[in-house]
Amino acid sequence: MSRSKRKPNQEEIDAARRDPRLREALTAARDDSEWRLRGECLSADPETFFPEPQAQQSPAEALALCSNCPVQARCLAWALDAGDRNGVWGGTTPRERRAMILAWKDAVRAA
Ligand code: SF4
Repeated sequence: MSRSKRKPNQEEIDAARRDPRLREALTAARDDSEWRLRGECLSADPETFFPEPQAQQSPAEALALCSNCPVQARCLAWALDAGDRNGVWGGTTPRERRAMILAWKDAVRAA
């Protein structure tokens, strides 16, 4: 198993709990069903966000678009709800989201 596919450890999950992106996602409006239409990535090449597995592509370009996106928190909430571990969503990489998804489930349960 490669390092990037391993299960997050408790330290990583605790760090994800403190991540401001996760906190903002928790406060994102859930009734906004049209958030995708306002995303900065709407006209971007999908491969920027979902590169071929063998491409070894840096997520920097996708993350830069996310950083200016008005629906970043809603997008991340969607990806965490869906448990999506592929591509860049809401300004996070798949690797970051692995721990975040576990922290998210706990936070949503406790809300
Ligand atoms: S946060 Fe990133 S992935 Fe999500 S809609 Fe905005 S640009 Fe697209």
